[in-house]
Formats: sequence, C-alpha cells, structure tokens
Amino acid sequence: MGARQHLAIIGDGAVAAAFLSVARLVPGDRLTLIGPNVHRFGAGRFYADHDARHLWRLAYMLDRPNGEMTEGFADWLAAEWPVLLPEIAVAQPLHVRRWSEALSEGAFGDFAAPRAIYGRYLARRSSERLAKLVEDGVQVQLITGLATDLSRADDQFRITLASGEVIKADRVDVATGGPANQRFGVDAGPTAFTTLYDNEEAIARVLKPGWEVTCLGASTEVLDVMHFLRAAWPTQELRLRVLRDRATPALDGDPEYRRLRAAGRIVEEVGRPIWVYAESAGNVRLRITGKECQSQEKTVPLAINTAGPGDQLLVDILISGMIAKGWLKLNSAQNRIDVGARFATDMDGVRYASDAVAILNRRPEGVVRQRVEELVGSFEGDPIETA
Ligand SMILES: Cc1cc2nc3c(=O)[nH]c(=O)nc-3n(C[C@H](O)[C@H](O)[C@H](O)COP(=O)(O)OP(=O)(O)OC[C@H]3O[C@@H](n4cnc5c(N)ncnc54)[C@H](O)[C@@H]3O)c2cc1C
Repeated sequence: MGARQHLAIIGDGAVAAAFLSVARLVPGDRLTLIGPNVHRFGAGRFYADHDARHLWRLAYMLDRPNGEMTEGFADWLAAEWPVLLPEIAVAQPLHVRRWSEALSEGAFGDFAAPRAIYGRYLARRSSERLAKLVEDGVQVQLITGLATDLSRADDQFRITLASGEVIKADRVDVATGGPANQRFGVDAGPTAFTTLYDNEEAIARVLKPGWEVTCLGASTEVLDVMHFLRAAWPTQELRLRVLRDRATPALDGDPEYRRLRAAGRIVEEVGRPIWVYAESAGNVRLRITGKECQSQEKTVPLAINTAGPGDQLLVDILISGMIAKGWLKLNSAQNRIDVGARFATDMDGVRYASDAVAILNRRPEGVVRQRVEELVGSFEGDPIETA
C-alpha cells in the first residue's frame, strides 16, 4: 500500500469543483478545501448567491442557455422547478415573464437561469462528491479562509492562510479565479467602483435618482450592471452609458440589452478610458480616447469599471507569489498564464487553472469558451493547444 496522500484545493469556485470532480483519492487519503465560501463549494464568485434582503438577489443570469451548461443542469432545474419558481418569482418577477414561452413548453434547456441557481447546482454536486469520498474513507476538511502563500519545505507544500495558520499538503490544486478588471489610475472612490461584484450595497447607498451610471468598458459585466440597476430600482428609469471600443457579441446578443439600447435607456459611446480620477462623491473625472484616437475629459456622477482584464494581468497575492517563485509562467504576448499538460505548473505536484490560463481563453478556432465540463475534459486529457 502506498503512503497516504494529502491533497489541498485552494479556491471554491466552478474550477475548484472541476478539480474536485477528477481528484484521484483512495481510502486513508486526506483532502482539504480552502476558500471564503467553502461550504458552498463550486459556486465561487461568479455563481455566488446574495442575501434574501438584497433586491438584486438572483438578478445575474447565465450567459448561455441552461442546456449548454454542465450536463444534467437543465434536468435538475426541471426537477427542482416547483421549489425554485416561487423563489425566483418573488426575487425577480421579470425573469419569469421573459421565460414564459420556454416554460410553457417545458423546455428547461432553452432559457438562461440566474447564475446563483447554477451555483446552487454546482455546490450540490460538490457536496455529493464529498459525501462519497467520506463514505470511501477519505478524510475531508473544509477551511473557510484565504491562502496567501504557497511554498515548499521538507518534501511538502506549506499553504499559509490569511489567519497565519499553515496547512501542509503533498499535492495542491490552485483555482482562485481569473484576473481582475484592468485599472485606470485612481479609479476607486465614493462613487467610482473597480467592479460591480461585492460593491452592490455600496453602489445602492450612493446612487441618486436620475444619475446616469457609466460603465468603463464593454465586458459581460455590463449585463450584470444592467440587471442590478433594474432590480435595485424597479420603479426608476435605468440610465446607462457604456464606453465601448470593440465589438462585444455578448452585449449585442442579449435581448434585454438590445431592447434598452433601442429605447435610448442604454447609450453607447465609442471610447476607451485611459485615466480615471474619483475626485469626490458624484464627481468622477474620466479621460477617454474616442473616435479617431482623440482624447477628451469629462465628469460623470458614478462609474463602474467593467473593462475586463484588458492588457494588464491583475492577480491575487497567492498567484503573484507563484509567478515570482517561477512556478507559474507569464505569457506576455497574451497577458495570460501558461501551464503545461493537465494544468501542471513548473512545480511538481501543483496544478493551476483559471480564466487567466491562456489555453482556456483561446481555442484553435479563436472562440472563447469556459464551460466547466470542458475544463474537466481538459483535466483528464491534454490541454488544447493555443492557436
Ligand atoms: C461577468 C462574468 C460572467 C460570467 N458568466 C458565465 C456564465 O454565465 N457561464 C459560463 O460558463 N461562464 C461564465 N463566466 C466565466 C467564468 O469566469 C468561469 O466559467 C468560471 O465560473 C470561473 O470559475 P473560477 O472557479 O475560476 O472563478 P471564481 O468563480 O472567481 O471562483 C474562485 C473562488 O476562489 C476564491 N479565492 C480567490 N482567492 C483565493 C485565495 N487566495 N484563497 C482561497 N480562495 C480564494 C474566490 O473568493 C472565489 O470564490 C463569466 C465570467 C465573467 C467575468
């Protein structure tokens, strides 16, 4: 019998759940999961739920129909629908109206459900997998927290947590999420936000009736801003300005976005923010490169950064430490991280996967696809080569 192994998975999102689903563990092995929402393992940041008192609960939608998500999701949705329908109808009645045609035909694969509901599905699958591992004699530990460093000493990995606690493991899978939005100078302040996520309460506190919200960039985060504003201020006219310097099929393909744009409630402006100064509440100064590369300055009341990663690679302290140690390789041409076959890093025993990995972002045909089942498939085989 081989020596007992201890596997640690850092991160608690969909990619960490993909690592869990293919983890090779035998009776007597140990498994430690580390993340801020580890008891909802699989939901992570993008499929997270909000508190029931928040008007924007269940507002954010999947970016593709349920039938194109992980296999089994649409069937699970159909089975759970008697319980889910009243919950969604109370939180976001507009969603249910939008799906009425698909629902009347029982076509649960044809519409896009709230992301938090998908997160619930992933979390349930993970807890079933954990229960099976425990039944098979694997010792499972869940740690609520953040890892700040990963190092190697005495043939073991040492994971340092923000609390100062150190966890020792023989193998480590790291899945702490993709890079943050590109920053534009002093772009955070009382009415300037570096992202929508986890800032919803702060935005709801400062947004004044009649203010136009400016989205700095045209990533899919804009759709969440749109749903957030509609959910948080259902009786007010939504007024959104989107700085856009490129084609974004995800925005153009969204029927609600198109409808609001046609109605003049969403205004698109050709431009790219190059500098943002959050001067004071209600005064956010922007310098924008617009048509024919002319730059202009303007002041807006409230801005939310929705640029996506852009030409920077902003990663958390754990990942920057792994890059500094030479365990992860930066791909400067793509502003991404390169990993080897089966997501191996340059340190034996450590794997890394996230939206920051070059091979996940660019398939040979140039299509960006990041479905969890594809990730799992990639873990089991060799990664698909970058074009
Ligand atoms: C706006 C937006 C919408 C998207 N919508 C969809 C969609 O509808 N459908 C789709 O297929 N894909 C979507 N994606 C792609 C999505 O990013 C991936 O499919 C996937 O959800 C990413 O999962 P993840 O586990 O890498 O990241 P995350 O969901 O970010 O999870 C990472 C988790 O790790 C935790 N963590 C971070 N640092 C540490 C640390 N140091 N220690 C411990 N834990 C840590 C984080 O708190 C987080 O909970 C979307 C992406 C964006 C940007």
